[in-house]
Formats: sequence, C-alpha cells, structure tokens
Amino acid sequence: MNKVVFFDRDWVLNKKAAEHEYITKRSEFERNDKAKEMIKLFSDKWFLILVITNQQGIWKWKYSFDDLDNIHSNMQQDLKKIWTKIDKFYVCPHLKEDNCNCRKPKTWMLEQALKEYWFNKKDCILIWDSDKDIECAKQFWIKYIKIESDKIKNYSYDITNALDSL
Ligand SMILES: [Mg+2]
Repeated sequence: MNKVVFFDRDWVLNKKAAEHEYITKRSEFERNDKAKEMIKLFSDKWFLILVITNQQGIWKWKYSFDDLDNIHSNMQQDLKKIWTKIDKFYVCPHLKEDNCNCRKPKTWMLEQALKEYWFNKKDCILIWDSDKDIECAKQFWIKYIKIESDKIKNYSYDITNALDSL
C-alpha cells in the first residue's frame, strides 16, 4: 500500500509570482531548495510524491500546457540530480469563475489520485500553503501541514513529526 505526500506547487515548491502574475516559463520559476530537500526526505521513505496545482493562467492564455510541461520537466531534471522525482502532476487549468469540478478547494484531483494509486487516506499528508487548500484536505479527511516556501526552514520539526506519525 502506498504512502502519499501531496504538494501544492506555487508558494510551496517555488516562490510565488507577483500578485496577478503567473509563472509562464522555466526562467520565471524560482525553485526552493528546502522544498527539494523535503521531496527527497519523503521519497527516501518510499512516499509517492504527487503535486496538485491550480493553474488558471492556462485558461487565461498566459501560458500553454506545453509551457507548463516544460516548467515541470525542468523541475524533474533538477530533482533527478538528487535521485528523486515527482510521480505525477495534477493540474486544474480552469478559471475560478468556471466553477469546474477540479479546481481546489474541491477534492476532485485528490479523488483522481486515489483512483490511480492504491493508498489509505490515513497514509497521506498534504503540504500546502493556503487556508483554502487546507479546507480541501479537511474535506478529504487527510492530514496536512501548512507551509509557505520562505518559511520552510521553520517547519522541519513538523515534517519529521508528520513522517513519524505515518
Ligand atoms: Mg500555493
């Protein structure tokens, strides 16, 4: 049975774009080295690493799915250097006002992951930055830790504890 860690992307794995701006290409993607270490920590404990991300910039024509794939493959290259990877990215490209089924805080992307990978909800943890997203974790009945990329260093204690509890 898999153990799973769900990461949010923006503001957890990378620095956030400016207000109303989007990360449209790899040169704008400012990774967070602490987040890389965190991914490594979980993958060394045999967790599946899944990223769940809202990217409404796609529906706003700020960037394409190809641009997004390019950013994500660059992340993977970077993680490969430390012998780890993200197992899958789940992306909602829709606008907030579309009221789609997949956009967080709805739990659709988590439910998809549950269909694709075999895991118990008690063996999962979410690492996300916004209260809205954490609402999603509560609705899905899984553990969560709130983290923002510039504060990651303060959370190593929480993560170690979380790992021990799973
Ligand atoms: Mg975020």
